[in-house]
Amino acid sequence: MELTKYIRDIVDFPKEGIVFKDITPLLKAPEAVASVISSFEEKFKSAGVEAIVGIESRGFIFGIVLAQKMGLPFIPVRKPGKLPAETVSASYELEYGTDSVEIHKDALAKGQKVLIVDDLLATGGTAAATTELIEKIGAEVAGIAFVIELGFLNGRAKLDSYDILSLINYE
Ligand code: AMP
Repeated sequence: MELTKYIRDIVDFPKEGIVFKDITPLLKAPEAVASVISSFEEKFKSAGVEAIVGIESRGFIFGIVLAQKMGLPFIPVRKPGKLPAETVSASYELEYGTDSVEIHKDALAKGQKVLIVDDLLATGGTAAATTELIEKIGAEVAGIAFVIELGFLNGRAKLDSYDILSLINYE
């Protein structure tokens, strides 16, 4: 399926100079969401995945649907201060300053194999910090799935030891 027609460019959002890739048209098309989920499942069905980790917030949308389809647990990775129980955190560089992500300390078992899901790979900082979280609590990353990759930002370079799938690549 041609997914690019479901992605809308919003210029200068959330700030000047950024072209925001809006996935809400895709979410309005059940056949497009189904196609995304099937592609993710197809690629990783033989990877021994035992849980799906979704990155806040658009990673939750695709992550929970995939987890339900594959009959797997869903684990949220969130921005700081949102998860109520004991957490571990990892930070990453932004253009100005740093940000961080958190996971519940007891979210995954030692050696459990997980697939990370997010809507978009840009610089790779968020996904790299998420792999760090998963490994900190003793679990293992089986792969990372994105709907969109901004290839010109070369985020893959930060994730080169992982099996990455992206369905749309803007070179
Ligand atoms: P990064 O850590 O730079 O790879 O940024 C990835 C995160 O930021 C993802 O969770 C995306 O949802 C969001 N993001 C970054 N750039 C964009 C963009 N141009 N359009 C939409 N979302 C973006």
